[in-house]
Amino acid sequence: MSLAIDVADLNKSFGDKHVVQDLTIQVAGGRICGFLGPNGSGKTTTLRMLCGLLTPDSGRGACLGFDILSQAEEIKRRTGYMTQRFSLYEDLSISENLEFVARVYGLDRRGERVDEALDHLGLAGRRDQLAGALSGGWKQRLALAAATLHEPQLLLLDEPTAGVDPKARRTFWDEIHALAGRGLTVLVSTHYMDEAERCHEIAYISYGRLIARGTAAEVVAGSHLVTFHGEGPDIDRIGEEIARKPGVESVAPFGAALHVSGTDRKALEAAIAPYRREPYRWDEVPPTLEDVFIHLMGQAQDNYP
Ligand code: ADP
Repeated sequence: MSLAIDVADLNKSFGDKHVVQDLTIQVAGGRICGFLGPNGSGKTTTLRMLCGLLTPDSGRGACLGFDILSQAEEIKRRTGYMTQRFSLYEDLSISENLEFVARVYGLDRRGERVDEALDHLGLAGRRDQLAGALSGGWKQRLALAAATLHEPQLLLLDEPTAGVDPKARRTFWDEIHALAGRGLTVLVSTHYMDEAERCHEIAYISYGRLIARGTAAEVVAGSHLVTFHGEGPDIDRIGEEIARKPGVESVAPFGAALHVSGTDRKALEAAIAPYRREPYRWDEVPPTLEDVFIHLMGQAQDNYP
């Protein structure tokens, strides 16, 4: 399958801050790749370099077969970019917003395209309502419709569902999958674990470096993390003690239980051994994606100069 994103060794600094470091990533056409990592790790900067809004200091590669350095305009024309902030005009109506976008892209059949988008969204009856009056979830769906009005082949979404309620997020993701089903490639940054799990594959970036890549199952397996699930009265209090023991890399509440994780199985078993007694119960469980991300975050901090 052809690669929609194929870039290597991208670097970007702002002043003396090296925010994207030797980043190499490939995403095949029609795939949904989740882009994860702590705030400030360089996700937005990477997305902006991929769609030609920002020039890398060094690196090379192509998006949709066009060179990111010399053919940025070709890439922009074929890419939809949507940010976390509602990027449309709140004081224009829903249909005026779409018409404006259609004009900016110089699209033909403008009226038809806008009508189709409104029908598809189920907003035809509310076309004259001000965009600013829409709820957060509807605003983001409208923004997605605007970002795809020019029928892009690549969609770069920067935390598109931040602050949107779970039901609206689900609808949004159904739409993303429908678009990918039609061949669109999607790179989407998110902080939500359930969204990470909805992606075909994941890229995890920390301090500007890509440190994990693959399907969710591959990222979990690649972490070599061992996780114990503990239950019992006041397990939170015990968690604080366990967290201080050698070999324990993370202790995370998991409902009324605890997840205790580390990569050194022997040390981890020694850490929980004193608590392996009534009324506590410990079972080894497969780490969740969240356990792995917490682990990756800690690891990257330790390695940061
Ligand atoms: P993320 O999307 O992962 O939160 P960003 O790519 O937005 O990360 O930011 C990475 C780092 O680069 C942050 O420390 C941010 O403050 C810095 N940064 C981003 N854009 C600029 C800019 N235009 N000028 C200076 N610093 C910037």
